[in-house]
Parts: sequence; C-alpha cells; structure tokens
Amino acid sequence: MTPQEAYRWLLEHSRETACLASFARLAGWDQATYTPKKGHAHRAQMQAALAKVLHQRATDPRIGEMLAVVEGSDWLGAPESVEAVNVREWRRAYDLQTKVPERLAVELAQATSEGEAIWQEARPKNDWVGFKPALKKIFGLTRELAEALGYQEEPYDALLDQYEPGATARQLEPVFAQLRQATVRLLERLEGSARKPNTAILRRFFPRAAQEAFGLEVLATLGFDLEAGRLDVVAHPFMQGIGPGDVRLTTRYDEGYFNTGFFSIVHEMGHGLYGQGLLPEHFGTPMGTEISLGIHESQSRTWENLVGRSLGFWRHFWPRAQEYFESFRDVRLEDFHFAINAVEPSLIRIEADEVTYNLHILIRYEIELALLRGDLSLDEAPEAWDAKYQAYLGIKAPEIKDGLMQDVHWSAGLIGYFPTYTLGNLYAAQFFAKAEQELGGLEAQFEQGEFAPLLNWTREKIHHQGSRYWPRDLLRHVTGEDLNPQYLVEYLTRKYTALYRV
Ligand code: ZN
Repeated sequence: MTPQEAYRWLLEHSRETACLASFARLAGWDQATYTPKKGHAHRAQMQAALAKVLHQRATDPRIGEMLAVVEGSDWLGAPESVEAVNVREWRRAYDLQTKVPERLAVELAQATSEGEAIWQEARPKNDWVGFKPALKKIFGLTRELAEALGYQEEPYDALLDQYEPGATARQLEPVFAQLRQATVRLLERLEGSARKPNTAILRRFFPRAAQEAFGLEVLATLGFDLEAGRLDVVAHPFMQGIGPGDVRLTTRYDEGYFNTGFFSIVHEMGHGLYGQGLLPEHFGTPMGTEISLGIHESQSRTWENLVGRSLGFWRHFWPRAQEYFESFRDVRLEDFHFAINAVEPSLIRIEADEVTYNLHILIRYEIELALLRGDLSLDEAPEAWDAKYQAYLGIKAPEIKDGLMQDVHWSAGLIGYFPTYTLGNLYAAQFFAKAEQELGGLEAQFEQGEFAPLLNWTREKIHHQGSRYWPRDLLRHVTGEDLNPQYLVEYLTRKYTALYRV
C-alpha cells in the first residue's frame, strides 16, 4: 500500500467517525434542551450504543497500520502541511485511545459515576467523611491513568496534555505564580477603594422575552451566523458544534438578574464563533477541529469580557438595551458599566468577576497538583483549600460544601482540566493585545458597532488554523511571543484601577 492510499483510508475513516460523533453531540444537545422527561433512559442507551461504536472506530488497529505506512514517508511534506498535521494528530488521538488498558477505563468509568452520585448525596450534608473514600479512589485511578498515558516529567502532565496538548506543570508554574501575585495585589488595591458599584441595578426585572430578543440582536451584530446556528435554553449553558453550518448555543435566563442570561449568551457565542470559523472542507479531520480547551476558552472570554464588558461595546448597545429593558431607563451608562464589572471575592468560581476568577482556578490547580505529586494528602486537602481562599481572596467557606466539595469536577474524574480556564484568559489577553496592535482602536470600532475586523482577525489567525499548531505554538505564531501573563495582568490593572479609581 502506498502512503497516498493509506492517507486516503485514514481520511475516510476519520470523516465517517466525525459524522457519527456529530450524531452523538446532536443527541446530547437534544437531551439537554428538548428531550421529554420520560425519554432520558432511552437516550442514555442510545448514547451508550453510539459511544461503543465510536470507541471501536477510534481504536481500530487498522489506524495504527495505516499510520505506520504514512509516517516517515517523504510524501507528507512540511510539518505544517495539511497532511502532516492530520497524521500527527491522528497519531496523538490513536495513542491516547489505545494506551489505556480496558480494565482501567472500566474502573475509572465506574468510580466516577459512583463518585458523582456520592458527591450529589454528600455535598448538601457537608459529609466529607462519606465522600473522601470515593475521591481517594478516583485520585488513585487517575494516577494510574497518568502512568498509562505516559509523561516526561510528572504524572500531572499526562492529564493536562489530554486537554491542552503540550502543556506541562513546569511551564505553568511560573506563569500562574506571577498571575496569582499580581491578582492578589490588585484585589487588595480595589478593596481599599471607597468607590463601589451599584450592582442593585442589575437585579431588577428583565423579562425573559426581552432578554432573548436583545441577546439575538447582539449575536447577529457581533457576527454569529444565526442561519448556521441557534440559541436555546438549558439548566447549565454550553455550546455544541454539530458540524459545518450547525452550531448550537444555549443559555439560561434569570428575570431578576441581568448578567446570568446576557453574559452566558456572549460567552457561549465566543465558543460558537470558533465552531463557525472552522474550515468546512477540513471537517472531520484535525485541520478542521479546535486545538484545545484553553484556546476554546480564549475565544469565549474574548467576546464575553474583553469585548462584552468594555465601555465601547456598551456605548454601542446601551440605547438598545434601554429600549428593551424598562429597568435600565433611569440608569446611566457609566453606572451600568461599573456594575457589570464589579469585583467581589466569592466562594465559588461560577459567575466570579474577571479579577477573582483566576484565583479560584489557581487554588484548585495548586491543590490537585499537590495531591498528584504526593505533597499533600487528601486528609489535609480541606484545610489547605480554606487556607488558600483566606490567603488569596480573604474569605473562607463556613462549610465544606462551599469549600473543597463545591464542585462536581473531581468526582467526575476531571483532574488536570481546570488550568485550561485560566489559560483561556491568558491567551485571550495576549491575542487581544496583538489584535489591538495590528488593527488599532478596537474599542472605538466596537462603539461604532464594528466587530467584523476583530472577528475576521481571529478567524484567520486562530479558527482557520484548526489543529495545525499546538496551543503554545499557535500563540507564538500569532503573537510572536511565548505565553506571557503580563498581558492579562496589564489589562486587568488598567481596566480595574480606572473603574475603582485607585
Ligand atoms: Zn467556556
């Protein structure tokens, strides 16, 4: 068999698998939005059957055989050529799928589904003693998973690499430390300010229909193609890319709080723009696939925060917002803008402001890293958690349900995944600074309702690249620089010291 023939086989196999995966995502979206209550049991069976087929296809030994034919042949071309990128990423995915022994995969699936159920029960009762054995088992199996996946320096890297190719704890440590120190200092300065935003203006009445209509208008103005996507309502908002021309956004509305619906729409739209920006001709191959969770999050954060919480953005949309919402008619734009950028330490990451958000992520990251390294035992973890909240945010959870047990992620086996949130913020600030340098006067453009220059820039530089570059290389390629936390630090400092006048 020639390398061309092997490549063609891989291409067809990959595209067909991707179409089946589209069905799985569509079924998942439907389950979160419109599946009737009594249909969920059958939906779970449908998904399990499809997951089995997808797993078989992803681990098909013929993939290994075909890759062996193509790899190393001169036919592939330069490392950044479409063919070379696809082969590199097919290899990566195949190795990730086949390195984990079936026994371990099954045990992990059982432990996490049990773990989630135990967490659901134990959390409201503050039952750490009841939850700890389940969590201990999950951390133990996750360590085994890291060994099976393999790493160069330490187990944590194997876990992180699943979500953020090429990232390692050693790279993140100095970057995160710098961000943490700067954020804690900034937070102290802001807390010393006598100027406080009036957030009560966001807690008035905002009819759901008006929120939806305003949200759709904003989506269309920012460049989300509503003929290639839609917006629906769920309990926990997410974006689901089905395939070319079909990107599903979801949100939830709180008629008593403006931020919940609006900022989740703009956040998910950022993810959705990435989905709509992937090149359709590469669908079903790595060149047409998003590269990482961190890069994904950089897109959602760009639109939610750097654009959607800027004064320029609101100078454009404020007259429309006042038309849609009676509750805003006596509110000044400057007061609204300050209110949506209020900084306040909280116990939980969800809906945290831009300044404190990363501290939540860093705390969880530091704890899970210490647990994996064996520097901290699970018995010591709740106290370590509280100490870090006290040190970084100046607050402490009165009960463990809002402390170490606040979140489902660890019990679901998602360890090594949290750093991608902060990486997303770091990437977003660094990309945005470059876009500002190349495009000039972005906020003035937003004020005029011009969002296409920024969108087109991200399309060309990021979305169209698919998985051509790993995140760090993409960053270097686009910005000419390695990951540099100063961009985020400077953005936060500039914006928030001006708002709080400190
Ligand atoms: Zn997101």
